Amino acid sequence: MSKINLKDKTLSELEDIFISLNEKSFRAKQMYKWIHQKNISFISDITVLSKDLRDKLEKDYEISNITILKRLDSKCDKTKKYLFLLKDKNIIESVMMKHKHGVTLCLSTQVGCRMGCEFCASTKEGLIRNLTAGEILDQVYQIERDLNINVSNIVLMGSGEPLDNYENVLKFLKMINSKEGHNIGFRHITLSTCGVVGKIYELANENIPITLSISLHSPFNDERKKIIPIAKKYNIEELINACKYYIQKTNRRISFEYTLIEGVNDRKKDANKIAEIISGLLAHVNLIPLNDIKETNFNKSNNENVVKFKNILLDKGINATVRKEKGSDINAACGQLRRDYLRNKDN
Ligand code: SAH
Repeated sequence: MSKINLKDKTLSELEDIFISLNEKSFRAKQMYKWIHQKNISFISDITVLSKDLRDKLEKDYEISNITILKRLDSKCDKTKKYLFLLKDKNIIESVMMKHKHGVTLCLSTQVGCRMGCEFCASTKEGLIRNLTAGEILDQVYQIERDLNINVSNIVLMGSGEPLDNYENVLKFLKMINSKEGHNIGFRHITLSTCGVVGKIYELANENIPITLSISLHSPFNDERKKIIPIAKKYNIEELINACKYYIQKTNRRISFEYTLIEGVNDRKKDANKIAEIISGLLAHVNLIPLNDIKETNFNKSNNENVVKFKNILLDKGINATVRKEKGSDINAACGQLRRDYLRNKDN
């Protein structure tokens, strides 16, 4: 039987484990701090616990670590992309970006994805499995250790749909925010979703004021359905209502992600319609130049058009910015590195 990963356990779950072993529950806090603050790799490293206790724990428990398979360093900026190997040999990717105000990590929440968005490389082979809370946390810990840095911001915008792995993602959010852990403020965390409306309501009720980012990509239901399959289940009106609820509950500004695809969603009428549907909302539109991926015929909008698009939004009083492309020389877009790696390995 495989051992239980203690990195997946919240402080109160660790307390229950210690109680079940007839040990003092305050040991749990010591262990939690050593795992999540001191970033140790093995139970045997937790020397604040007696040798006997560590041996006893090792019978059924372990601290499982993901390992760096490959790191790509961008020559254009300080972006670094990581490929990680999981214990079951699955592979995920994460990105480290440096800004004036700190370090942001873009983390994966699933191996693969089942959302099927047309322009996204992460979803091309479907969902393999959900990541555990410990595996999401470990992307942070391994990168911090590798670069000897402290991460200040987190975006859940790597491979996977975070709201399709709701329980583990929620656990991750609470653990990364815990004061005995990394204590990263909810305001420094962004979760991006393609629009799993039911879960947006649940998230709004959790009392964790993270920034919600919505992958809009088209303001017209018929066209959105063609590129984002979940739009067949929830229409834009339902999505916007969920956003309104989120804003009302959290008082947080929503960010709408909008990947500009030439001739598909970058027309004047798209910009006008976006302004119509989000006017009056506490929101911001983040225009993203499409990262060309091999599997599709989509092309990115030219720069001139991107600026025009942004100006239409600004003229209508909508907050809009164009996302700077980072790490474009190292395949820093969602899912591309993992796919290239798997493809080359098979050849
Ligand atoms: N599943 C979540 C988070 C992962 S994708 C979501 O859909 O939001 C993170 C962002 O990258 C999303 O806005 C997604 O639509 C966008 N994206 C995916 N592939 C892209 C590509 N080839 N070029 C630009 N943006 C892309």
